[in-house]
This record gives sequence, C-alpha cells and structure tokens, in this order.
Amino acid sequence: MSDRERLRDLPSVDRLATAVARAELQARREEILSGGDAATDDATVDLVARARDRLRLRLRRVLNATGVVVHTNLGRAPLAVEAQAAVATAAKGYSNLELDLATGTRGSRHAHVEDLLKELTGADSAIAVNNCAAAVLLACAALAGGRDTVVSRGQLIEIGGGFRIPEVLAAAGTRLVEVGTTNRTRRADYEQALAAGDENVGAILRAHPSNFRTVGFVAEVEIEALCDLGVPVIDDVGSGVLSDDFELLAGEPPVRRSVRAGAALTAFSGDKLLGGPQAGLLVGTREAVEACRRHPLARAVRIDKLSLAALEATLALHRDPAAARRALPVLAMLDADSATLHRRADELADATGGAVLASTARVGGGALPLLELPGPAVAIDPGPAGATALAAQLRAGDPAVVGRIHDGRLLLDPRTLTDDEAREVARAVRSAIG
Ligand SMILES: *Cc1c(COP(=O)(O)O)cnc(C)c1O
Repeated sequence: MSDRERLRDLPSVDRLATAVARAELQARREEILSGGDAATDDATVDLVARARDRLRLRLRRVLNATGVVVHTNLGRAPLAVEAQAAVATAAKGYSNLELDLATGTRGSRHAHVEDLLKELTGADSAIAVNNCAAAVLLACAALAGGRDTVVSRGQLIEIGGGFRIPEVLAAAGTRLVEVGTTNRTRRADYEQALAAGDENVGAILRAHPSNFRTVGFVAEVEIEALCDLGVPVIDDVGSGVLSDDFELLAGEPPVRRSVRAGAALTAFSGDKLLGGPQAGLLVGTREAVEACRRHPLARAVRIDKLSLAALEATLALHRDPAAARRALPVLAMLDADSATLHRRADELADATGGAVLASTARVGGGALPLLELPGPAVAIDPGPAGATALAAQLRAGDPAVVGRIHDGRLLLDPRTLTDDEAREVARAVRSAIG
C-alpha cells in the first residue's frame, strides 16, 4: 500500500474522537453512578489523558530488569530468533496446519511436532496442547476418567494461579486416592492402595513440587519404582529439561528419565526451561497418547497455530544442546558468563549514575526455587521521591521497565536484559530521574 493510500485509510477525526470520547464518558458515568471515591474526584480526573491512554495497546513491551529469568507475570520465555520467524510466517498467511501436503487430505496439527518430541525424549508418541496445566488435566481425564487416581500426599500441590492437584483431578472426573503422608510416602503405600482399589485405579499421578522443597525426614518413591507397579503412571515434571548436560538444571527431573522408566505419559511446559511458547507437552506410550487424542477435552485444550510454529522451531533448536544454550534466550540467560554480565552492568551504571553491587538472579517460573544465580546488579538512588515512585514512573513508560526494590533503592539486573535492552533501560532511567 502506498503512503497516500494509507493516509486516505486513516479514520476521520470525527469518527475516532467520537468513538473514544463515547467509551471514556461511559466509563466515567459508571464510576460516578457506582459512587466515585476521592481518588476519582471530578477535579482530578483528566478525561483527555484517559482517552489518549485508551488508544494505546494494553499488552505492552516490558524490559525485564528483575533478574527473574522465567517471569510468569512478564510472559515467561522470550522466544529464540528462529521461533520468532516461525511465528511471523504462520501469522502472515495460510499454512498446512491440518493439511497433509503429500496426500492433499486432512492432516493433524499434532504431526508437526510429534517426530521432534519423539526424537528429543525417546517416547513412542507425543501430543502438544495449550499449556502444562491442560496437559495434566487431559492426561488424568483420558487415563483415569470415571476411575481412581493414586497420588502421594506429599504431591498434593498448588502450582500457582489456583492450579491445585486435588481440584484438577476432580475437574478431570477422576477420584483422588491419597497415599502416604506429607513428608514420607513409600512403595508399600502405593501397593496397598492398588490392592484395595480393586482394579478401579486408572492411573498413578506423580507431580513434581516445582516451586518448593521439603528437607529433612522425607521420602518419595522414584519414577522407576512407580512404573513397576503395573498401573499407568502420569508424571507431571513441570519445567521440561530435555538435556542432561546442563549442570545448573540437574535439580529438575529430566523428561528422558521418566520416558525411559516407562511412564505412560510425561507432562511438561513449553515456556519454562524448554524456552519456547506457552504449550503443554505430553509424551509417552502410543496407547496413552492415543487416549488423550481421542478424549473430548483434547479439542478444548488444543494448541493454536502461532504457538505450534514457535514450538516446532524451539524443539528443533534442542537437537543440538550446546547450540540450544546459545540460541534459546532462557538457557542463554541462565548460562550468561560473569564477564558479559559485569560489562553490561558497568555500562548501565555509567549511563545512569547507579552503583554496581553483588546480587543474585533467579530461574523463576516455579523451577529450582532455591537456586541463586550470583551476578552484578545496578542500584539506582531514587532521590527524595523514593524507590516506589521511581519504579511506578518506569512502569508507566513505553516500553515499561520493571526492576526490583531493595533497601530503598531500585535494583536493575543485567542478566535478563540484552545489550540493546540495557541501553533502553538506561535511557528510561535517565529521563525518569533527570
Ligand atoms: C508450571 C507447572 C505446571 C503448569 O504449567 P503451565 O504450562 O504453566 O500450565 C504444572 N505442573 C508443574 C509441576 C509445574 O511446574
């Protein structure tokens, strides 16, 4: 389209102004009728500013200076360049989402990532759904709907956002059978429940306590022993570690181990340590995956084409674990070398008048909650207005900047910023304090 045509296509002042003004006045009317408080006093309400704000997109770019790598509130994993390109291509036009190009007949959207998932995990079969919560729900419904699911009392966990195992099982239409205690569950506890269950047990569910750890007098049954009990095992490992040569992630359950142990289904997230889009992956036996595919919930939790495109490109990068650590932002940030972090911190401090101090970053996203990643951070003295006001001002910018408040100062962590982003943060901070 030429510039002339684009100018011609702009809405008229009247149309734009009327639409925005109507919406803003309607919102204000509702505020007044609902008994507007002091904060929305007529004198302090700038309806023009609010109308201007209404024209901006709500989902905005944020520069993550928190040092929390998989930050759920900030959209978890930034995508690799290859995954961004795959999304752009899928978004731009049509695709063979559900068309088999070889035969010209209807295909399956799951086919695009199944071979990669099999290759990367050693499983016989795989399916991708909307997120890991959906994967666990679907797995329990498909393998144990209308029957019992056995879970250790030490694994009746809440992941966050109201995702609680007992409630998920209820929603999946399976009856929860608790075994063991909060701190100790033994193989004999499972065996007793299976014997008492009288063939009505559809599955054993193991849920990884991602976001907390128990220490001391504790015992759980290993995945290999669970898979020996003769009932299909659903293993929710959460974060999705595909390669075992990244020392830092040794504390997370590797997907391959559960597959090798013989779990019927292993569930994990696409946007935690896998470093891809929001997605839930289920890998396992042909029979169990087929039961998931056939279940009516599969359609309700299916993955969309943009996420699928990003997922395929992300999984392809995992074929070479060393390359994945460079190409996938989440892994690269966890793996960042100290010299790079210090250089970035020094530049940020120089540009903002801040001070470099020793700090710790975190994995986030409910993975490795005890792991501290040592590194530098830049402390900004907020002046008389205080750190809370400075933080609010930076959040209001575009892009917004989100840091951490510590001891009355604003901390900016270079680990979760690229070099270019660190320069953008410096500009935003200078204009906020200057
Ligand atoms: C994070 C997590 C989930 C939920 O994954 P989402 O992809 O956020 O839906 C489920 N189970 C475990 C063990 C997790 O760590």
